[in-house]
Amino acid sequence: MRRGVLASVLAAALAAAPGALAAAPPAPACPPTPALPRPNRLSLCAFSDRDMAYVGSPRQQALCLMPEGDPGHFKARASLGAPLDRLVGSRAAADPARLAALLRDAGLDYPPAALARGLSHAFGGKRYGPPARYFVIHDTSSALGRPAFPPEDDPAINRLGERYCGGEYTAHSFINRQGKVLIAYDYGVAWRATKFESINRWRKGLFLHNELTQPRIPRRGESLTNASLSPDPAFTPAQYRALALLYVAASVRAGTWLVPAFHSAIDYAWEDGHDDPRGFDLKQFDEALGTVLDRLRAGS
Ligand SMILES: [Zn+2]
Repeated sequence: MRRGVLASVLAAALAAAPGALAAAPPAPACPPTPALPRPNRLSLCAFSDRDMAYVGSPRQQALCLMPEGDPGHFKARASLGAPLDRLVGSRAAADPARLAALLRDAGLDYPPAALARGLSHAFGGKRYGPPARYFVIHDTSSALGRPAFPPEDDPAINRLGERYCGGEYTAHSFINRQGKVLIAYDYGVAWRATKFESINRWRKGLFLHNELTQPRIPRRGESLTNASLSPDPAFTPAQYRALALLYVAASVRAGTWLVPAFHSAIDYAWEDGHDDPRGFDLKQFDEALGTVLDRLRAGS
């Protein structure tokens, strides 16, 4: 997703100081939401609305939904790497107490009781809709408003919780550069964050949305508030660790290892749309995931 500097600052202020809400002046009325443009090219990955799933085995779906290269030059991925290659679509289980301990040790405020609950359902959250299958990875694409990237611990790039003008969060979870996590909505809540879901409300609830904070600065010809250059490396090790933990928790709740997916692949049919998560390194995610699995097995 791409957020303006002002919106991000406002959101951060609200998130950081909820007690100040009562004294704050009335928020300006939100501008009307523009009509969603129609897709202007074919989707990258075929989706069946009848089956409420992408076409192919879960692994094949993930290969398509996490393509390599820049959004303008996506190419099919040949492998998900280890351990994802053998996991996606297979049965997921873990000792709930061990998983809860790992989440707690990592500083995640994840209610242990939630680990025993199922995920959101498609059809807009109707109980008879199929449960969530896709673990969507985003970056916040936040225009930093500066010409250069600050250190990773700079407060300006460690806010948590992007919101729409109306106050609703833009995703289920948010992970800042230091690996701190805000769970805005439990994965049991049907929530949407893509155009692909917006054009068909029955798809809402099929996707779990996870935002990784990523500052952007201007390339040549861009402005401080309309910036698309991501840092290199694009995400921190702490972000991959936190994301891996959330992926494990979601998959254990599903009983099946979910299909990871990039927002940019899901909304590919809208050219010049979303480019996130830009620079995501699947190898680093695999390594972080492997470490979580090792620790679950070891019980430490
Ligand atoms: Zn996104």
